[in-house]
Amino acid sequence: MPGSFTAFVIADDNGKPKGSFTTLSPSDLPDHEVLVEVSHSTVNYKDGLAVTGKAKIARKLPMVAGIDLAGTVVESRSPAWKAGDRVVVNGWGLSETQWGGYSRYQRVKPEWLIRLPDVFTPEQAMGIGTAGYTAALCVDALERWGAIQPGGGEVLVTGAAGGVGSVAVALLAKRGYAVTATTGRPETHDYLRGLGAGGFIDRATLLEKGPPLQKERWAGGVDSVGGQTLVNALSQTVWGGAIAACGLAGSSDLPGTVLPHILRSVTLIGIDSVMAPADRRASAWVRLARDLDPGHLSAMYEVHPFADLPTLGERILAGQIRGRVVLDLS
Ligand code: NDP
Repeated sequence: MPGSFTAFVIADDNGKPKGSFTTLSPSDLPDHEVLVEVSHSTVNYKDGLAVTGKAKIARKLPMVAGIDLAGTVVESRSPAWKAGDRVVVNGWGLSETQWGGYSRYQRVKPEWLIRLPDVFTPEQAMGIGTAGYTAALCVDALERWGAIQPGGGEVLVTGAAGGVGSVAVALLAKRGYAVTATTGRPETHDYLRGLGAGGFIDRATLLEKGPPLQKERWAGGVDSVGGQTLVNALSQTVWGGAIAACGLAGSSDLPGTVLPHILRSVTLIGIDSVMAPADRRASAWVRLARDLDPGHLSAMYEVHPFADLPTLGERILAGQIRGRVVLDLS
């Protein structure tokens, strides 16, 4: 291990969070049991907020940002892991309460680690990242609830050209669901059709306020937008259907009524990836390894050098990123 390495650190700047590339030494890292050489990380929407300082994501400073990491174990004081193991961490408070993935080396707790499925390289795992793993949690939840079965009705994916949305489209289509995608970017239709979307709705349609009970259409849905979009999705869900809501790319409001829930038994399933227990994580990664076509995966992300991080943070907040972004730290 080198005596110093580069990390992207959020520090206090006159009461405001400000990120910059910083040189760290091994003794700066937290005293967790497993040392990982990080080869790749990623840029999620929440990372964009942290990197640009547009929201206080870190709850203590200084904080190494980055909610995901993939790499190889260098040394471990835990019997569960040994040098050479290929690993992934998603969430667990990385970049909020725990130092995260934007560092060439990081020390983490053994229970945060997932063994990287053999079918994926670290780059691909970060192509999936928290966004893709969250999409898998959403599809798992809809199936576990019994709301959707392949061939059983249309499934809606909102924010479809984004990170969560594009993986959700691909996972659902591979399982044989009829997937309808909402997007504000018509230029992504070919890409989304390639992932398996069968139909499209302009996202503006779902941003308009409608009646509390609308024509029943969706057996289920994956929503990463929130606000009026989520309310309309619930209002258009069939009796007994469910929407798995994981995001607020549009809004954190929920300006709806209880009518879809009490008159159509529609369920709103909340999905939090950060503190998801180990069995749910393992199940999501099994789904990803089984259902995410490697050909689709390569079309879903672009790889950038670590140095591009500040620009990428701005771009993801401006909605200028299609799919996912992988950071190469190696
Ligand atoms: P992206 O920025 O990649 O995608 C979000 C998509 O939402 C955009 O591509 C766009 O889709 C759509 N969108 C953006 N702004 C608006 C708007 N104002 N109105 C309607 N649609 C909009 O982000 P991610 O996919 O990485 O994350 C999506 C959301 O999920 C975020 O809020 C994120 O914080 C949340 N999230 C939550 C997790 C959890 O554990 N609960 C984990 C991971 C993410 P299009 O261009 O197709 O219209």
